[in-house]
Amino acid sequence: MVYNWSGIIQQWLFPPTCLLCGAHATTGKDLCAGCERTLPFIRSSCVCCALPLAISGHGVCGECLGHPPAFDSATAPLRYREPVRHMIQALKFHRRYPHARLLGGLLAESLSERSDLPDWLIPVPLHPDRFRARGFNPSAEIAREVGRRLQLPLETRSAMRTRATASQVGLSAVDRVRNVRRAFAVKPSFHARHVALIDDVMTTGSTVGELAKALRAAGAERIEVWVCARATLAPPDPG
Ligand SMILES: [Zn+2]
Ligand SMILES: [Zn+2]
Repeated sequence: MVYNWSGIIQQWLFPPTCLLCGAHATTGKDLCAGCERTLPFIRSSCVCCALPLAISGHGVCGECLGHPPAFDSATAPLRYREPVRHMIQALKFHRRYPHARLLGGLLAESLSERSDLPDWLIPVPLHPDRFRARGFNPSAEIAREVGRRLQLPLETRSAMRTRATASQVGLSAVDRVRNVRRAFAVKPSFHARHVALIDDVMTTGSTVGELAKALRAAGAERIEVWVCARATLAPPDPG
């Protein structure tokens, strides 16, 4: 029998308790069934950029029809609303690692039916200064959980953020593109055909788009974006 020691140790260190209400969780994750029902799951979305769509099923949004992104497809199980916003901020700003386990678990669950999986998961890298200040990369923590659940390896050394960029929060779509332009570099030793970029939230896709361009130039043929939550710039997400 093969034991998943990292899973066993994690369950022992952090036994499943609902991270939203504190109740004992029986769903196999750190979330009770009642709270899971309140999560803002996305039912239909643009296959290119994960933007929630009003139609049933999946299609391509008007923006992607006119200006296809640098990546091939994107998926997000949740909208960036409460309580998802709280879950992501608890991980990012208060280093709550169990939240990465929950967010990564929900992302992996949304992809569990997939058969054509990527060769590598690439968490969106932080600039070394930001990494030092924060002490960890939230995207890498989420990617670790996704990789553990889907049995996919992580690649954390090939892609680097070479330029320290200002936060994207509060910037317009145009300024977001400008802010991250040429922010990433990929080592010449990089070699992969099919990759998935992992991040916590995607708003306009400018950051993952810029990383996708660098990976494409380095030889990646198929680039997916897997994020926990999809935010929108405007109109504001109603509750
Ligand atoms: Zn709960
Ligand atoms: Zn789209």
